[in-house]
Amino acid sequence: MHPDYLAFDRRHIWHPYTSMIHPLPSYPVISAAGCELTLSDGRRLVDGMSSWWAAIHGYNHPVINQAMNDQISHMSHVMFGGITHYPAVELCQRLVALVPSGLECVFLADSGSVAIEVAMKMALQYWQASGKPRRKFLALRQGYHGDTFGAMSVCDPDNSMHRLYNNYLPTHLFVDSPQRRFGETWHAGDDLNLSTTLATHHASLTAVILEPIVQGAGGMHFYHPHYLRLVRELCDQYGLLLIADEIATGFGRTGEWFACDHAGISPDIICVGKALTGGTMTLSATLTRRHVAETISNSDAGCFMHGPTFMGNPLACAAANASISLLEDESWRPRVAAIAAQLRAGLLPLLDHPQVRDVRVLGAIGVVETKLPIAVSTLQSWFVDQGVWIRPFGSYIYLMPPYIINVEALQRLLYAIAGALDYQNHFII
Ligand SMILES: *Cc1c(COP(=O)(O)O)cnc(C)c1O
Repeated sequence: MHPDYLAFDRRHIWHPYTSMIHPLPSYPVISAAGCELTLSDGRRLVDGMSSWWAAIHGYNHPVINQAMNDQISHMSHVMFGGITHYPAVELCQRLVALVPSGLECVFLADSGSVAIEVAMKMALQYWQASGKPRRKFLALRQGYHGDTFGAMSVCDPDNSMHRLYNNYLPTHLFVDSPQRRFGETWHAGDDLNLSTTLATHHASLTAVILEPIVQGAGGMHFYHPHYLRLVRELCDQYGLLLIADEIATGFGRTGEWFACDHAGISPDIICVGKALTGGTMTLSATLTRRHVAETISNSDAGCFMHGPTFMGNPLACAAANASISLLEDESWRPRVAAIAAQLRAGLLPLLDHPQVRDVRVLGAIGVVETKLPIAVSTLQSWFVDQGVWIRPFGSYIYLMPPYIINVEALQRLLYAIAGALDYQNHFII
């Protein structure tokens, strides 16, 4: 590669949410294995991010690699229109068996955001086909559902890209983010905002869309499972669809297979992505109930109107099958529980630190919310100097390590976070 490839990168390549004029630094990674990323200068970093919820088994996992190699030698891709193949069928069988009950019709797409678009289109087509066209969704404040237009329109309206694209986005209805935290005691009336909004507006709504239990990119909050049970009841009462965005929470991250399992509920549509392929390939799935799928198929269109070029990509499906096979013995449960215990032991004492507003842990997710906004590039480079890969945003320093992380590696991540809080220049005053 050209020796100036970092200069080329800065000049020509967009990274997530960065400026082309003042890009945040990008660190060159040449390989990744287990819980470690290796930089081009040979430094090795303990990974605390699982590449944004995805690499749950760590990197370069031999079982997933083998499955992908085997699949490559047969075919990497073939169109899904008019063709099917084992990797997709096997994956869909697995998903139907794993997700909360009753979700049996699977749409495979290429990213989380697209899975959300698909879910929203399904809800719209469902109502159209029922002869009662409606177009509004009810979403939660501090929610995050992706970066495409439909997904953006149901993200938190204040704390997202809404304003930038104001005139292009359909307006939906929002209720306050659930205030009662996971682990607190539920009080009657905690749901007031939700129930009154639904009582007033249900007749114009298609569906409620939410991230169950964990509101991720919108603020890393964990809310009470009873809220989910109430949403389910209210959706049943008013005949609304419930869309659960499990793109971040799926596949064990919160300590259950899916976050909906904390509440024992099943949505009408569920979206999964991120960890679906163990962080190797981009793939997502939207699953729905048969009556929803059949209503949609009875529409004027006669079908569901979506079909990505790379739908059901065999290589991605093979990776997903291997990743799920690694989860099936449920040995992730004690590992996630052990990570949770170590995160609590390491992070809860930081509640006394003057820079810290809050600390929360659920499953293999640990969050330190700071009082001041974080100077991301300064703190990022300090973390790299400490030999860890932790990428904060806003006023959140958080960990969601691969499930395979060992005690020593996780301890390094925790020490780094505790140490980071003592430097004024890591914060924007
Ligand atoms: C990441 C994420 C998405 C979007 O997925 P992409 O693959 O980035 O398009 C949607 N919803 C939630 C909850 C997410 O965490």
